[in-house]
Amino acid sequence: MIYRKNKKYDFDCVVVGAGVIGLSVARSLSKSGFRVTVLESNSNFGQETSSRNSGVIHAGIYYNQSSFKSIFCREGNKALYEYASNRKIKFKKCGKIIFAKNYKETDKLFKLQKNAKKNNVILKHLSLQELKLIEPDLTCHSALLSDSTGIIDVHDLMLNFIVDIEKNNGKVVYNCKVGIEDIINNTIRFTVNNTQSYSTKIFINSAGLNSHKLAKEISKKKNYFVPNIKYVKGNYIKLSGKSPFKRLIYPLPSKDGLGIHSTINLSNQTIFGPDEEVVEKINYNVNENIVSKFIKSISSFWPNIISRKVEIDYCGIRTKVDDNDFIIQTFNDHKIKGLVNLLGIESPGLTSSIPIGNYVTEYCKKYFK
Ligand SMILES: Cc1cc2nc3c(=O)[nH]c(=O)nc-3n(C[C@H](O)[C@H](O)[C@H](O)COP(=O)(O)OP(=O)(O)OC[C@H]3O[C@@H](n4cnc5c(N)ncnc54)[C@H](O)[C@@H]3O)c2cc1C
Repeated sequence: MIYRKNKKYDFDCVVVGAGVIGLSVARSLSKSGFRVTVLESNSNFGQETSSRNSGVIHAGIYYNQSSFKSIFCREGNKALYEYASNRKIKFKKCGKIIFAKNYKETDKLFKLQKNAKKNNVILKHLSLQELKLIEPDLTCHSALLSDSTGIIDVHDLMLNFIVDIEKNNGKVVYNCKVGIEDIINNTIRFTVNNTQSYSTKIFINSAGLNSHKLAKEISKKKNYFVPNIKYVKGNYIKLSGKSPFKRLIYPLPSKDGLGIHSTINLSNQTIFGPDEEVVEKINYNVNENIVSKFIKSISSFWPNIISRKVEIDYCGIRTKVDDNDFIIQTFNDHKIKGLVNLLGIESPGLTSSIPIGNYVTEYCKKYFK
């Protein structure tokens, strides 16, 4: 660890969590000259939500124009393609089709197209003839094409972030579970593995599924509002054999997600999911009973699923907030200069990772440089 005995603080800047968000924040801070230490409770990076997602570089279609999700997703889409190209990280700008199942849904599809346009994302309307040429196996009533959607190797992305952090003299330290001890004169005191106690000038809480819990611990010492978080599990199943689609195939979005869609990964396997299941606790078991629900949903756009073999795959857990946007709590929210809480960083968090890192760095530069 970068531990600074005899200084006013033990650490300059601690980032909690080595998921794609914590690593991106640490990379950006270290590039700007902050002495950064990432503390991760697991024995390796990216073992939680960052390795349990669809790996999609989203275009920024669905979100309110002025939301963090919209702004960061659009910026992040470009930034990720550029970074991946420069660093030779595997990605594929395969494009995505969003479809309406029937006449009634078509209205919603065109509303989505208008919303995307407000976000400067162009969705091309495809005639059924055009669609048959490019995705002959898709059965639907009408469809839109997003050219700028793609997929990325998330593990390699995180590995490259770590290379950058270490090149900028930062450190990532594993097996360190961070707890909150106290806040004294703007200094955050935290514990590691419930034993050692340290102080830090800057504390970035990017603990993913636990960040609201850490934020609540801090709010017990210095009262401020922490929004409620709902966990929504998303399960996936995998198709055996050849993929029917070349692109990502999405229905219209549902209440807590983007609907059970068809994704391809970089090994050309087809993955279906995620669904939406509100859960109380973090548990990554996938229930075998989901298969019939998935088959029913997928057969509405690909009837041949019925004769193909599928297997239960993995799942991830979303952190949902009522406002349906990312929450980045800074001084204005809690009056603690050195604290940034990153809450509700669900989809499109992966896509938004680089601009989120830059946003947090700009905040820290304003207060500490
Ligand atoms: C099902 C699903 C599909 C998704 N699909 C996409 C997609 O296709 N495209 C997209 O852009 N986004 C997608 N997302 C969103 C994206 O995966 C997340 O926004 C992103 O991975 C969040 O990263 P994170 O670093 O905040 O969290 P995490 O990856 O969970 O990292 C947090 C880290 O903090 C550590 N930690 C927790 N508590 C402590 C503690 N007390 N001390 C130390 N360490 C701690 C954890 O061990 C973990 O490693 C999806 C999300 C889900 C759930």
